[in-house]
Amino acid sequence: MNASARIALVTGASRGIGRAAAVALAAAGHHMVLVARTVGGLEETDDLVRAAGGSATLVPLDLKDFAALDRLGASLFERWGRLDAFFANAGVLGALSPLAHLDPKLLDELVAVNITANARLIRSLDPLLRASEAGRVLFMSSSVARKPRAFWGGYAMSKAALESLTLTYAAECASTNVRVNLLNPGGTRTAMRAKAMPGEDPSILPTPEDMAPLIVQMLSAGWEKNGELVNYREWQKTD
Ligand code: NAP
Repeated sequence: MNASARIALVTGASRGIGRAAAVALAAAGHHMVLVARTVGGLEETDDLVRAAGGSATLVPLDLKDFAALDRLGASLFERWGRLDAFFANAGVLGALSPLAHLDPKLLDELVAVNITANARLIRSLDPLLRASEAGRVLFMSSSVARKPRAFWGGYAMSKAALESLTLTYAAECASTNVRVNLLNPGGTRTAMRAKAMPGEDPSILPTPEDMAPLIVQMLSAGWEKNGELVNYREWQKTD
């Protein structure tokens, strides 16, 4: 690993948007810390990172294991003493259903993965981000966080809570070197989207690779905005 490389952590790096972002961040010179449960998926991402000329540290863990998130912060501190970019990308959809029929186990998972794990990661990683010359944090939202839609209630309320968490953290970081923002990718060609919209033709959707350059930009030292929600479709029109 290049000694001057920025250190970037991506959750949900085993497939989808997280994988594409990890490869693009590696190509842009970051050493990658890749988090997800599926070891095979992390290894495939690692292969792509290496092919892009980068390097990665694989951290297979379940984001519902909150003690492991505490240990992750401690390990990163021991190894590098800082974290420069944190892409809080991992998420679950749950199931699209009327709220009255929402499976309690899926509701618990939505809260644990989409909300609590991110709050616990902020707690664990905040000292490392503040130790960076330019700590950058990006959380993933969705249109339904602000525009509730029938049958999307579980996912929507989790993303609304995540937006609140993100914007609070951004306000708390305003006078530091840390910048904290939100990205709404819009419908993207991934496993999650196929689960939500099984009848949709995926070829009409942007790919994770299409939006990776925006993610790299929002996690770069040059990105000074704080507490903003960027919508990929709008950025695409102006870029
Ligand atoms: P995806 O293809 O389903 O990938 C989700 C990632 O999250 C996987 O790498 C998965 O890894 C990880 N993950 C899920 N549960 C986990 C857990 N308990 N512990 C550790 N990792 C876990 O999803 P995607 O479409 O790329 O979505 C990425 C983000 O964008 C999500 O936050 C999603 O809500 C948001 N988003 C997506 C769309 C879209 O159209 N795709 C639209 C709006 C917002 P493992 O299964 O290996 O653990």
